[in-house]
Amino acid sequence: MKNYAELGHQRITEAPIADIESVKLLEPQNLLSLGVVVDRFGLVTNALFIKNAVPDWLSSGYRTTGRQYSAHKFCQAFDVKVGGIIKQLTFVKLAIQELKLFNRGGVYHNYTSCHIDNCGINWMAKHNGAKFWFADKNNKYHYFMLYEDLENHIKNVVNVINN
Ligand SMILES: [Zn+2]
Repeated sequence: MKNYAELGHQRITEAPIADIESVKLLEPQNLLSLGVVVDRFGLVTNALFIKNAVPDWLSSGYRTTGRQYSAHKFCQAFDVKVGGIIKQLTFVKLAIQELKLFNRGGVYHNYTSCHIDNCGINWMAKHNGAKFWFADKNNKYHYFMLYEDLENHIKNVVNVINN
């Protein structure tokens, strides 16, 4: 997989949250794809956000912290603030299943942001990565290769919460 950070865009300081400098290091094609997804999802899009300011719905992009093979470290990932787990699931479905603009997605019980990235499936498999994941209320990760399995798992969790 191409590591955009290695193409002369290595950021020295750590960027735990999205700021304009870290957003500029993301792969341009991924940024264009992100724009399409958030537009379809109905988030307010500022077409100039790359040049001027990070929109408030983008909670993280490129960063040097996190898991060893975090897609964020390879300029491939976005954390997008969309709300609770059903909204996150809807966003992941749109980005990956429907628009097919991203490869992988994560939904988080304890956060209001979901994760989408474009890490290659074969590349991530070498590092024990999955295509989809859900981090439950205890921050335990559940991994899935099929979107339907992620959706079924999350809908069961939601039913438990609501009953
Ligand atoms: Zn993320």
